[in-house]
Amino acid sequence: MCDFCHKHGEGKKWYLEATNYADELLSDLKRRNQLKDFFPHPERHKRGVDSLNRLHRAPGFVQRALTWGLVKRQQKYHYGQVVPIEDVERILDFVTSVVRVACVCRHTTIGSEQRYCYGLSMAPNGGQLAQIIREIDVGYLTGPDTKGLEMLSKAETLKAIRDHEHEGLCHTVWTFRTPFIGGICNCDRSDCLAMQATVKHQFPVMFRAEYVARVNPDLCNGCRQCMRVCQFGAMGYSAATKKTVIDARRCYGCGICRTACAQNSISLLDRALVSVAANLW
Ligand code: SF4
Ligand code: SF4
Repeated sequence: MCDFCHKHGEGKKWYLEATNYADELLSDLKRRNQLKDFFPHPERHKRGVDSLNRLHRAPGFVQRALTWGLVKRQQKYHYGQVVPIEDVERILDFVTSVVRVACVCRHTTIGSEQRYCYGLSMAPNGGQLAQIIREIDVGYLTGPDTKGLEMLSKAETLKAIRDHEHEGLCHTVWTFRTPFIGGICNCDRSDCLAMQATVKHQFPVMFRAEYVARVNPDLCNGCRQCMRVCQFGAMGYSAATKKTVIDARRCYGCGICRTACAQNSISLLDRALVSVAANLW
């Protein structure tokens, strides 16, 4: 279990706790202000990730101390976790409403509106979260050239997120002033700032999933379709056995490789049961 499960989930998966999505948490002015500040300045997020290059130039001990402190701070305000599709389904079972908005990261990194972000609420019609977004005067979220705030049914949301799964995108939940969870994003390393920070710069802004993937060598035919979609560099191919293998120490447990495998060779195991990965977050 990750640290948030202990702190915000009573030892169970924290993102499956309905209280962490409660509308009442948005009565907190600091949280509201954080949300109001988050969307209008996407370039700040990009600058933040770009500045991580400078961190790499610092001496090792300075790098480690700064990273530790900054990650702790990030965990307090805006932190994520990878969730496989079955846990996305569980979340959608209990939330009441969903709104879809343009992705902040893609707006900055590729300069186009890509609708990969889903705000979740325990209240009808997107609750206070949708209200806050409506109040933000930001063209890319609400302007005439965008689709604005889309209300989606849970069935539509699940279908859209399953489509993202087939695109090879990794599902993640995100807090706004932890433990409030604002929504689910669908990330890829080329366009998503959070994945760039976590994977490219080794500056984690999200936990790995509570799972680790494993290949059943008896079913694997060595086609390597799974390797095309792993965004974490966790898969390798053995020329000797003509099978794919997963390095559990690098696996984020997103399950995207599982969907890409036509042979059903890949399954997700509870991270706690895989000793080499149990304490890797
Ligand atoms: S996609 Fe499936 S069958 Fe193909 S290499 Fe990967 S695990 Fe093996
Ligand atoms: S090997 Fe792990 S990180 Fe890579 S796609 Fe599969 S589950 Fe995700």
